[in-house]
Amino acid sequence: MAPQIKYTKLFIDNQWVDAVSGKTFDTYSPHDGSVIAKVAEGDEADINLAVAAAKRAFHRNSEWRLLDAAQRGAILYKFADLVQRDVEYLAELESYNNGAVLSFSKNITQSGVQSIRYLASLADKIQGDTIPLSGEVFSYTLKQPVGVCGLILPWNVPMLMFINKVVTALAAGCTVVVKPAEQTPLTALALAALLQEAGVPAGVVNIVNGFGVGAGTALTHHRDVAKISFTGSMEVGKLIQQAAGATNLKRVTLELGGKSPLIIMNDADLNIAIPYAAFGVFTHQGQICVAASRLYVQSDIYDKFVQGAVEFAKQRTVGNPNDPATQQGPQIDGEMMNKVLGYIEKGKKEGAKLMTGGKRIGNSGFYIEPTVFADVTDDMTIAKEEIFGPVQSILKFDTLEEVIDRANATNYGLSAGIFTTNLNTALQFSKHAEAGVVWVNTYLASGPQAVFGGFKDSGLGRENGLHCVDAYLEVKTVTINLPKKF
Ligand code: NAD
Repeated sequence: MAPQIKYTKLFIDNQWVDAVSGKTFDTYSPHDGSVIAKVAEGDEADINLAVAAAKRAFHRNSEWRLLDAAQRGAILYKFADLVQRDVEYLAELESYNNGAVLSFSKNITQSGVQSIRYLASLADKIQGDTIPLSGEVFSYTLKQPVGVCGLILPWNVPMLMFINKVVTALAAGCTVVVKPAEQTPLTALALAALLQEAGVPAGVVNIVNGFGVGAGTALTHHRDVAKISFTGSMEVGKLIQQAAGATNLKRVTLELGGKSPLIIMNDADLNIAIPYAAFGVFTHQGQICVAASRLYVQSDIYDKFVQGAVEFAKQRTVGNPNDPATQQGPQIDGEMMNKVLGYIEKGKKEGAKLMTGGKRIGNSGFYIEPTVFADVTDDMTIAKEEIFGPVQSILKFDTLEEVIDRANATNYGLSAGIFTTNLNTALQFSKHAEAGVVWVNTYLASGPQAVFGGFKDSGLGRENGLHCVDAYLEVKTVTINLPKKF
């Protein structure tokens, strides 16, 4: 049974409101392409209202600003309890809206609860330094919330992205305006209702659904927005950096795409490496920024590995995300499905060997067969561009030195992995991989404690980890004259 959709309006100043224009847009089910809700479509006028509410809530005398840091943390712990209470419903809603396999959404939502608790715990650990400045002065630093933050979300894991950004910003003491992806507004709205129930004061959290050009651009150009945190494509990330430069030099955190290399050495344990390589690229239909989309296999084991990878891909069950037996659901929408199928055609045309898959499944919803290409070379489009679909591209290499250079020969730098039983090989690769995350004999292992973010064009700044609130803080040095040195 489809989960109930309780919220479809904009959330501004703790009120559910229609867009100023009165416009709505359709939200679809990736499973069958049907319309599942009509959602209020915000644009510049609504962003202005939301930013004004967030600015009022950030006033020095506001309820939010006058809370003790520990009280802020307590509200966020309450939020974690409410997400835990509704974990089944939220996971179902997420799957309904973005086509993620239900078991995946359940894991993600449950790990979201852990993330909220971790981030909530940081609220009362924000502290400055005392400075041994020369002369008859006393000097110290204050770490203060940066102000109103614009948080722009992608559609692939919308709930976890909401949690990472919103809870970090709130732990720091900021107020926020969230712009969910136009494909997946529903769980952000449900989480906003839970934040209200947890006791977040009016105006601290505002949600404006809408499109990138419209609501998104209004937010990134708004002069009262002190910071933007964005997760999405590299192209849009660069536009956001430009908007910040063209307006008030707002602080920017960018979590962008990837073309992550996974290296399989001759000495790897293939019983582990083959399933992990499949897991790394096929999880969530390949729609994860850290997808292991360039699989480099050393020459001695190449044929055996390809055979194993193909068998693995063929066994994957694709279908309705709500069916517990399903391992792979649909792509997010028709546009993304066609984009992925276009990459598959390019792969064939440019000479990669299609070993299995390659086609759309049925003609309802947006399903694609798990696809494996062998004999891929670095110059092919499928080895260079982010596909964001269930496409495993296998490339051959001979030496570690060679594969480090080839793995790094991309403008992306989000993640990388290696399977080897040689410690020195693992350490050498980990040191030289140009990536913000490196996995050794595993893939996708992560959590709120582990810093996350990209090198090069994969991003700017980091999320998660002990210091993640720093991205939402300004540091101020205060120096006081002393009557005499003592
Ligand atoms: P996208 O960049 O098209 O959209 C992301 C968000 O930006 C949406 O909310 C969209 O409405 C908004 N947007 C679009 N144009 C805008 C503009 N000009 N100004 C302001 N906002 C604008 O990306 P997507 O297709 O939703 O997500 C997929 C991408 O996200 C992939 O490239 C993937 O790798 C990346 N991603 C990265 C991470 C990470 O942490 N590094 C995590 C998940 C996804």
